[in-house]
Amino acid sequence: MTSLPQRLLRRARGLIAHDARIADAAVLGNIRRLRWLLPLFLMLVLVLLAVFALDRPLDAPQRLAWRQAIMSVFGITIVWLLVMALAVWRVASRGRPDTGVRVVQFVVALGFLLFTAVLTVLDQWVTSNISPFILGCISVSLLFLLPPATALGVLLVSYAVFFVGLGLTQHDPSLLLSNRVNGFAAGLLALVLSVGMWNRNIQYNLLQRELTARNETLEKQQAELVWLATRDALTGLFNRGEFMRLAEKELLRTRRHGGNTSIFVIDLDFFKAINDRHGHPAGDKVLRHVADQLRDGTRSTDLVARIGGEEFVVLLPQTDIDAAMVLAQKLRRQLRDSPAQVSSDLQVSFTASFGVACMPGKHMGSIAALYAAADNALYDAKRQGRDRVARTEPDATLTPSDFQRMRRS
Ligand code: GH3
Ligand code: MG
Ligand code: MG
Repeated sequence: MTSLPQRLLRRARGLIAHDARIADAAVLGNIRRLRWLLPLFLMLVLVLLAVFALDRPLDAPQRLAWRQAIMSVFGITIVWLLVMALAVWRVASRGRPDTGVRVVQFVVALGFLLFTAVLTVLDQWVTSNISPFILGCISVSLLFLLPPATALGVLLVSYAVFFVGLGLTQHDPSLLLSNRVNGFAAGLLALVLSVGMWNRNIQYNLLQRELTARNETLEKQQAELVWLATRDALTGLFNRGEFMRLAEKELLRTRRHGGNTSIFVIDLDFFKAINDRHGHPAGDKVLRHVADQLRDGTRSTDLVARIGGEEFVVLLPQTDIDAAMVLAQKLRRQLRDSPAQVSSDLQVSFTASFGVACMPGKHMGSIAALYAAADNALYDAKRQGRDRVARTEPDATLTPSDFQRMRRS
């Protein structure tokens, strides 16, 4: 039993881990956003600089000094933006939320807010409004997804600069007080907005992760269902239904493009005796061994299925009866000569009989008819003494009337 403090500690660790992973995603999102925000901001500052440069105030020297100071701040900002754009471009190409990325994000957010604070401080020479700082606070909280502690740090440092700077340029005590209070309110609002956005981001991320996990589980379950519906559980080969479906499709393809399709049905000889002598589990191992041999001994384009108890079927696309006979003989010898290792001290030898049939693409027979023809041949192989391959006679090629006859029967 774990104690309550231990459980709380584990939960807190889990939350911190969550938070850290979400912070990683957020910092990368910020950097991606900055790739287009910084050039946009650069263009804005360039336009503002041009406006100030073209404006020729003829009045007071204080206005001239203000204009000069603002233009200098714009100039420094342009250089800073170029450096930051370069830094963002470099860290974004790494695609990892490492320390470099965090530092760049922090420096850009802080630099942007300091820029608006300094503009506001300089503006006090000609106007008492503090719109740049208010706009800066709101923009930073809306454009950056910052963890609350980082947002608080950025806002506190900027407000300190704003607070001290105003004292230097705003000499009217009541305006100074009003601006400092308004600036504080803007900072506080920005902090509330930023924390709200961050919490939403966490909820959104957790929800998304939950959805992704559920989706993955569903996809896995769906894949399992498809597997169960189409495979034989003991050997993993196709089951009868799936074999018939795939084989029918293969016959249609052959009908359109021409060629021959061959099939062989395999039945293990005296399999009941193996079960009786060694037990059902040993018989199962033999069946799995046969499945492996058939899988390994055929092409990936061939269809191998377990069609019933100890009966298998192989469909060979684009294969004529002679080639099918050669492969069937090879597989028959292979099965006879490779006993199944049932346990560390027991090997079970067995043989199998094969019935082979072939259908040229131009014939309109169904897979059921082709299968029935191979099954007939298998019956012959059994009758002739087992451990042998028999083919449909007389020429191993069924005519349309053969198939029609079989369909009727
Ligand atoms: P034949 O040479 O005429 O084919 O003789 P056989 O004994 O192989 O044929 P029979 O049809 O008499 O017996 C088939 C046996 O296969 C009977 C059944 O218990 C066994 N069998 C069917 N399915 C499974 C299975 O999934 N596992 C095991 N171990 N045996 C199975
Ligand atoms: Mg059998
Ligand atoms: Mg059988």
